[in-house]
Amino acid sequence: MTRALYPGSFDPVTYGHIDIISRASGFFDELYVGVLNNKEKTPLFSVEERVKMLEIACKDFLNVKIVSYSGLLAEYAKQSGINVIIRGLRAVTDFEYELQMAQTNRKISSSCDTVFLTTSLEYAYLSSSIVREVASYGGDVSNFVPDFVEKSIKAKYRGE
Ligand code: ADP
Repeated sequence: MTRALYPGSFDPVTYGHIDIISRASGFFDELYVGVLNNKEKTPLFSVEERVKMLEIACKDFLNVKIVSYSGLLAEYAKQSGINVIIRGLRAVTDFEYELQMAQTNRKISSSCDTVFLTTSLEYAYLSSSIVREVASYGGDVSNFVPDFVEKSIKAKYRGE
C-alpha cells in the first residue's frame, strides 16, 4: 500500500490546497493531509479548527485522512509508515526553500522522498496568507476558499 503525506499550515485551507489534494489523492492508496502544530507561530485558526475545515473540504475524497503533527516532519512520516511527501510548487520563489526541505528530510530519513506537484494556473497566486490579508480588510475571498471557510474567517475577524 502506498501512503503519502501532504503537510502544511493550512491556515486556512484554500482552493489551491484542495486542488493539490484532489490530484495527489489519485496517485496513492492513502493520502494523509498533515496540519503542522507549530507552537512558535500564532496562527489565525487553531490546529483543531484547521483540521475540522480540512475534514469538511475533503469529505468527498475517500482515501484522504486529516491528521495533525508536531516536531520533525520526516520523523512523523517514518513513524506513520509514509515514504512520500507531497508539496505544491507555485513559483520559482517556492523552489529554493522546498528543495532545501526535501533534501533535509531525505537526510533525516533516507526512505522519505518528496514529490512536487505544480500549481494549477488558476491558483498560482493563491496562498493562505493572501486570503488572511484580503479578509482582514473585509475583502471578498469567495474565489479563494470554500463558502464555509469564508464564513469562519469573517467570524474570526469579527472577534467571534
Ligand atoms: P500557504 O500558507 O503558502 O498556503 P501551506 O504551508 O499551507 O502554505 O502550504 C502547504 C503546501 O501547499 C506547500 O507545499 C505549498 O507550496 C502548497 N500550496 C499552497 N498554496 C498552493 C497553491 N495555490 N497551489 C499549489 N500549491 C500550493
